[in-house]
Amino acid sequence: MSETRPTISRDQAVAPLFAGIDLGGTNTKVGLVDDQGHLLGYRSMPTKVELGPEAGARRMAETVREIADSVEVGMADVAQVGLATPGTMDIPAGRLLLPVNFPSWHDFPIRDRVSHHCGRAVTYENDANAAAYGEFWLGAGRHLPSLIMLTLGTGVGGGIIIGDLTIDGQHSHGGECGHIIIDSRYDARMCNCGQRGHLEAYCSATAVVRRTEEAIKAGRQGSLAQAVADGEELTALLIDKHADRDDALAWEIVLETARLLGIGIVTLAHTIDPAGVLLGGAMTFGRSESKVGRRFLERVREEVRSRALPVVGEKLQIDFAALGSDAGFYGAAGLARVEYHRTKTK
Ligand SMILES: [Zn+2]
Repeated sequence: MSETRPTISRDQAVAPLFAGIDLGGTNTKVGLVDDQGHLLGYRSMPTKVELGPEAGARRMAETVREIADSVEVGMADVAQVGLATPGTMDIPAGRLLLPVNFPSWHDFPIRDRVSHHCGRAVTYENDANAAAYGEFWLGAGRHLPSLIMLTLGTGVGGGIIIGDLTIDGQHSHGGECGHIIIDSRYDARMCNCGQRGHLEAYCSATAVVRRTEEAIKAGRQGSLAQAVADGEELTALLIDKHADRDDALAWEIVLETARLLGIGIVTLAHTIDPAGVLLGGAMTFGRSESKVGRRFLERVREEVRSRALPVVGEKLQIDFAALGSDAGFYGAAGLARVEYHRTKTK
């Protein structure tokens, strides 16, 4: 998404306002929206993990304040703030536990510290669930009463939304769809989490690159193998590029990834029976705008339809997500909004 997002003015906004923060390992996105999800202001800031969690909480709160100032609203007009972070975490306690890319941020009460610095109540959520909620509220899922979102990137993130509720689970790790088992063999591929056979071990961008490397080492040839031999870095994007040029290996990898993803989706669909499944993240092969993306999506749908109970599979809508990496801060703001209105009507 570009840095120039369409915004509305303070006069056009429908009160109350909500801020959403999406904490990332490199950058943190912060947005201020009105009660209908229209954007008033937005900032992306470097997270600067090395400064530590207290500085992080303060900087996030300052950014919310700066955005509010820049659109000439006071913090008093911001009803509640939503904060989304990667796990591991304890959502009811508002604590980060052992976040992978945040070495010095362990066991930190991030919700209450952000709340302290900005003076507003903060709603805390897992980043993948927040992204799913963003799509549910304002994106590709806005007409769906329930959905599962899978984010295909370095890992495979998952979020489940059912009628305005995120599925956080008993231990704050509900909706970890990347770690469902799709290969039961004892020598199945190793997942980033240290267990074997998980969806992420086959369908993350990292796994897709690894599967391609293995095929090339085993002697597969073609334009993709040649590009790698010529020194180009093997990435999901390079595979996408060579599939677009009809390289056989690149197509095989893309379609096998879609098939395996479809198998994972069948299990999720039989568990939840959602109205839709959305595919987001960096590895979506150009989405519906490209021939590779369209074929990838169609292959996922074919696999789901051929393996799911007809009543589940036939009506299940499978599509690409729409908000890109903005889904997280929109969803965080949206979940703050849900909590605000829920507590207000009590
Ligand atoms: Zn795993």
